[in-house]
Amino acid sequence: MSKTQSSLSFSDMALPSAVLEQLNAMGFETPTPIQQQSIPALLEGNDVLGEAQTGTGKTAAFGLPALAKIDPSLKQTQVLVVTPTRELAIQVAEALEGFSKKMRGVGVATVYGGAAFGPQVKALKQGTSIVVGTPGRLIDLLNKNVLQLDGLKVAVLDEADEMLNMGFIEDIETILKGVPETAQRALFSATMPNAIRKLAKTFLNKPLNIQIEAVAREKATIKQKAWKVQGMTKMTALTRLLEVTPYQRALIFVRTRQDTMDVAELLQRSGFKASPLSGDLNQAQREQTVSQLRSGHIEILVATDVVARGLDVPEITHVINYDLPSDTESYVHRIGRTGRAGRSGEAILFFRAKERHLLRHYERLTNAPVEFFEVPNANQLSQHRQQQLLEKLQASMQADSAHADSDKLKKLLGQWLESGELSAEDIALALLTEQHKQRPLFLKEDRPVREMRSERPGRNERGDKRKPRAERGGRAADIDFDTYKIQVGKEHGARPGDIVGAIANEASMDSKYIGQIQLFDNHALVQLPKGMPKDVMHVLKKARVRQQPMGLELSDEQVKRAPRPPRDRDARGPKRRQAGKGAARRFN
Ligand code: ADP
Ligand code: MG
Repeated sequence: MSKTQSSLSFSDMALPSAVLEQLNAMGFETPTPIQQQSIPALLEGNDVLGEAQTGTGKTAAFGLPALAKIDPSLKQTQVLVVTPTRELAIQVAEALEGFSKKMRGVGVATVYGGAAFGPQVKALKQGTSIVVGTPGRLIDLLNKNVLQLDGLKVAVLDEADEMLNMGFIEDIETILKGVPETAQRALFSATMPNAIRKLAKTFLNKPLNIQIEAVAREKATIKQKAWKVQGMTKMTALTRLLEVTPYQRALIFVRTRQDTMDVAELLQRSGFKASPLSGDLNQAQREQTVSQLRSGHIEILVATDVVARGLDVPEITHVINYDLPSDTESYVHRIGRTGRAGRSGEAILFFRAKERHLLRHYERLTNAPVEFFEVPNANQLSQHRQQQLLEKLQASMQADSAHADSDKLKKLLGQWLESGELSAEDIALALLTEQHKQRPLFLKEDRPVREMRSERPGRNERGDKRKPRAERGGRAADIDFDTYKIQVGKEHGARPGDIVGAIANEASMDSKYIGQIQLFDNHALVQLPKGMPKDVMHVLKKARVRQQPMGLELSDEQVKRAPRPPRDRDARGPKRRQAGKGAARRFN
C-alpha cells in the first residue's frame, strides 16, 4: 500500500454523508491502519483479504464500504456478514446498526442458532439489507429459502481463523456456494493459518492483501493490574482505589445497565464526579455525557461494554474492570479505551478466584503481563488521607499570603487566642474534626462487622455458646441477626441489590454480613448482625437508597422466608445467605 494513504481521513473516503455524520457523532476521528487501507480498496470494488489483530477496527474496515454499496430502495439482502459466534454476530450487527443509523431504509438482521426462528425469519422476510449471522443458522435459513442471496452485493467472512478453530470451514463453503459471482467479497482474520489462505483462494477474486503488523509496543503502554476480590466489597475497593489513584478520567465497566446506575450512584455519594453511561440514555444524552467527560464535568464513567464501544476520550487514564467482560475480546476493546493516541494508561481488573484463568488469556491477547496488586487497607488509606491533608494545608499556607481575607483571619484568630478561651491547638483540632466528619482521617480497621462478631465468644464451629439453630432463624450461617426496618420499598424502585449495595458501602460492611431482605411496598426488612456499633447505625439511618433515606430502625417483625430449593453453591460454600444473593454478589 502506498504511504500517502496513511493520511486519509474518513471524509476523504467516498462514504455516504449519512455515514460520515454518524462516525463524527460516534467520535471516530481517524481511520485505524486497517481501515485506511481496506475502505478505499473495497470502495473501488476490489476483493480484500485483511489480516489485523483484535481490536484494530476490522468491523468498520469492511462495514463502512459495504454500507456505501447498499441501495436502500431495494428490499433485499445486499450485505452478508458471517461470524463464528453469536456474540460476535451481535457485536458486528450492533456496530453496523450504529454506522448506518442515519441511513434511511437500511436495516440489520442478526441470525444465530439457539434462538427462535420466528423473529429472525420475520426480519429476513421484510427484506433487511444487511444480514449478520453464524454459519449453522445461515445454512438453515438458506435451506428454508428464507434467506435469499440473489441480490447480494457484498459477502464478508469475519474472524475467519476463529471459524476454522470452531470447525466451521465446511459450513462456510456451503454458504459461499450461494453467493452470486458478481458479489464483492472480503475475508478478515486476526491470523492467517494455511487453511484460511486456502479458503481465501477459492472464495476471493484477485484480492488485495492487506496486512497490519501487530502493534505490541503500543499495547504495552497500557499497564494491566489485577486485584483478587478478597477482604472487602468490590465497591469499597473501587472507592479506595479511586481515592488513592491519580486518574485523570476513569472508565469503569460493569455487567448490566442497572449496575451502571447503582455503581455511579454509590460513587456520587462518596463524592466522586461519576455518571452512568447506559443504553437507557438516548443518543443525544449519551453524547452529552461523553462531552461532559471530555470537559471534566464528569471524571468517571460507569458503563457497559455495549455503550462504551468506540468511546475515544484521550484523557481516560484508567479503565477499571469492576466486572470482567463476558468474552475475552471485549477485554481488549475495554482496555483500548485508555492509552489512546499513544498516551499511557492503566487497566485495573477485579477478579474472583474462579476467574483467575482468564488473566492468562488476557495476557496472551494483549501480549503483555497482568500484575497483581492489593487495594489499600484501612490503615494505608488513613495514612494517605493524612498525607493529603498535610499537603493541602501546606499548599494553602503558601497561597494564603495572597488570600484577600488572610489579614482579617489572622486578626480574628489573634482575638480568640487573646481571650484565652481556646488555645491554638483547640481551634485547629475543632476545625480538623469538623472538616473530616465525612471523610475520617483514621479509618476503623477493615471489616468492622467481623470485629463485632469476634466479641461473641464461641463463634467457632463447635462453640457451645451458640444459640440453638431455631433461634438463629434456622440458617446455617454463623452470624446472629437482628431484623431492621428501613423506609424504602418497592414503590421507591428499590431492589435487594440496591439495599445491599447501600449498606455495604456506607457501613463498609462485607455483604455477606447482610442477611435476608424482604421488600414491601413502602418499606423493607433487612437482617443485620446483632450488636451493631452506634456509629454504624447512625450512618445507616441517614444513608440513602434510590434517593430515599433508609431511616434504619430495629423491628419486631421477622423476615419471612419462602422455602426455597437449595441454590447452587458458590465459592463461599453452602453457608451463604440466600435472599438477595445474586444482588449481593455484585457488590461483593
Ligand atoms: P476488531 O474487529 O479488529 O477486533 P472492532 O471492529 O471490533 O475491532 O473495533 C474495536 C473497537 O475500536 C470498537 O470499539 C470500535 O468501535 C473501535 N473503533 C474502530 N475503529 C475506530 C476508529 N477509527 N476510531 C475510534 N474507534 C474505533
Ligand atoms: Mg472483529
